[in-house]
Amino acid sequence: MRTPLVAGNWKLNGSRESIKSLVSGLVAGEGGVNQADVAVCPSFVYLNEVNALLADSKISLGSQDICAEDSGAYTGEVAGSMIAEMGCSYAIVGHSERRSIYGESDELVARKFVAAQRHGLRPILCVGETLEEREQGVTEDVVARQIDAVIAEAGIAAFKDAVIAYEPVWAIGTGMTATPEQAQDVHAFIRARIAESDSAVAEGIQILYGGSVKGNNAAELFANVDIDGGLIGGASLDADEFLAICKAAG
Ligand code: PEP
Repeated sequence: MRTPLVAGNWKLNGSRESIKSLVSGLVAGEGGVNQADVAVCPSFVYLNEVNALLADSKISLGSQDICAEDSGAYTGEVAGSMIAEMGCSYAIVGHSERRSIYGESDELVARKFVAAQRHGLRPILCVGETLEEREQGVTEDVVARQIDAVIAEAGIAAFKDAVIAYEPVWAIGTGMTATPEQAQDVHAFIRARIAESDSAVAEGIQILYGGSVKGNNAAELFANVDIDGGLIGGASLDADEFLAICKAAG
């Protein structure tokens, strides 16, 4: 039995003031969330503050990215050791915005995945196709390539301590959610792909769906056998909406 996970990706949003009120809303309502793990991923600069605000909470903390290197001349980067020191348990790697805007390759994402695990963080590996790729019928090829790059770098056993988020690029921040069938099909494909290398790892890994999940569509997505929760962008900035999604996962 896999425990569902709902993780909020706050992206480039928030201020000291707004984050305080968002976290206090989450902490006030988290008692209503049963049987789902919950995490939030603020900007790096607020990790320490959010960690303190979550001191008496079961909500975990994650970063939105991580440097593949551990130290040295990498101006502007944030190392896994620093992220772990700020109280994080998760690190998102390979979000489509990092891949498309900052040109992160499958190989770099795989190295970030390894860096996260080197510092005791669970990577949340984002994979997914663009609209053009879906229309060309190559969704499975794209997702397989993104996963295989990590298997090549880290080995299949590394997925024992990792999460995969299937996020169709065309559904992120667009309001165009994948249908439950579309999402389930790709989730089942991902699990089968992992199972080709290790069936026990495939059975245990949490595969999250991300892409315009809201309180009113979460339950029908999470009802599918291979969907183990969600990676939530826009809706994670509203405590009530995010908690409604977390409840749907439980
Ligand atoms: C995301 O950024 O990972 C995401 C899924 O965003 P949204 O929920 O806003 O589509």
